[in-house]
Amino acid sequence: MTKLHKAYIGGQWLAGNQGSFEVDDPATGEIVAKVADVSLEQVEQAIEAAHQAFGSWRRLSAQERADLLLAWYHKVGENRQRLAEVITLESGKPIAEALSEVDYGASYLRWYAEEAVRANGRTLPTLPGGRRPMTLKQPVGVVGVITPWNFPLAMIARKVAPALAAGCTLVIKPAAETPLTALLLTGLAEEAGLPPGVINLVPGTDAATIGHRLCTHPKVRKLSFTGSTAVGRILMAQSASGIQRLSLELGGNAPFLVFDDANLEAAVEGLIASKFRNSGQTCVCANRILVQRGIYDPFIRRLKTRMASLTLGPGSLPGADLGPLISDRAIARVESLVDQALEAGAVKTLGAGRVGEASRYYSPTLLESVTPQNPIWSQEIFGPVVTVTPFDTEEEGIALANHTEAGLASYLFSDTLSRAMRVAESLDYGMVGINEGIISSATAPFGGIKSSGLGREGGQEGLDEYLETKYLCLGGMG
Ligand code: ADP
Repeated sequence: MTKLHKAYIGGQWLAGNQGSFEVDDPATGEIVAKVADVSLEQVEQAIEAAHQAFGSWRRLSAQERADLLLAWYHKVGENRQRLAEVITLESGKPIAEALSEVDYGASYLRWYAEEAVRANGRTLPTLPGGRRPMTLKQPVGVVGVITPWNFPLAMIARKVAPALAAGCTLVIKPAAETPLTALLLTGLAEEAGLPPGVINLVPGTDAATIGHRLCTHPKVRKLSFTGSTAVGRILMAQSASGIQRLSLELGGNAPFLVFDDANLEAAVEGLIASKFRNSGQTCVCANRILVQRGIYDPFIRRLKTRMASLTLGPGSLPGADLGPLISDRAIARVESLVDQALEAGAVKTLGAGRVGEASRYYSPTLLESVTPQNPIWSQEIFGPVVTVTPFDTEEEGIALANHTEAGLASYLFSDTLSRAMRVAESLDYGMVGINEGIISSATAPFGGIKSSGLGREGGQEGLDEYLETKYLCLGGMG
């Protein structure tokens, strides 16, 4: 077993006490690596190591922590191509997308290095009796992190960078589908000089046991999770015992509104960018396309032409727009969602389903006449399937857009400023892309409302997730 495939606990690379598990290449189904499968005892060891390291990590100056984050950022830059190739190998996404994921993930390391020195408290106006109030910002403590497979690097960087900037230490469980990127990223953190125990990586297959321990161990003060709403609910319930702090970035069901006054070309390009990134496997992918009646026919014509031009192929193939879906289970789920949608009255006007018998490639598919009663309406599709619903008035469009439990990303296309503002203010979502299909950035607070979760990642808000506010009251000050 090579160093790359071991767990990283307290600065040591360790074999898994439960043996190892296999990682496959979604493009071929071939096993490409074996990775340490940690035991519950090893998770506890990692928590202890993070707790030990917390004492000294929090006491470093903010500038010292920032310098280490920057050193890690530079290591990631130097290994950009290598990281991207590993992302493509284990997640299947096109290499161009993998490269942009590396840049995007790295941008969090740099941004939070810069923000680490701005975790300011406040001094408040004098109180009666000569008392002086003030506040300090202090790190929450040890943080448990659980991440999904769709952005194997960025989902880790987005949590770890602000946590480290704040002075927290971490135990990270990557998705079992994509641990190799996490291992490489962790190795680069070690090379950059992050002290032992500050980040610990526990790959494993028994997610429920690892998750339970991270939620209930008294030394883990916060959990940050990105994944499905179903698992988020379990984690939230488990975290109740220790009143643990939570950041939950859960499933979305993004509406994509196209109004009669939209720039048609921009709307179609925005949709292609939002819908087909990672073959439709992101939580902010456009999921329900709502098109005003006056622009419906030309929009669909242009969209079909554009969808038909997308190239499917292994992520390593230059020029591939869409790679395979992550797993056999994932493609079977998309097939069944489409079957159910057709049974419920949707009309397929483009798409040839699975390409090849045992493959994980699914051809870009267009379903029209989708109604809110159709079961696909309330599902996060996680595949290259566009569902379209026409509407007449602005009010109807907004009502349809809000007709879901989810509240993560939403999109609207209109060239009328007053309408764009009115609609954006009426959308029950944490984020609104206005004439834009790609919205995520290290500078901006990413996150959802309703069943899409709690908390924000990115921006100043992202640092606050890892800080407690302590109030000091100084008496006898005259
Ligand atoms: P997906 O279906 O997209 O894989 P999940 O929510 O199942 O989404 O997975 C996201 C992350 O949560 C992964 O790291 C996975 O291993 C982990 N996970 C899955 N089930 C649990 C659980 N019961 N407790 C804690 N983590 C879990």
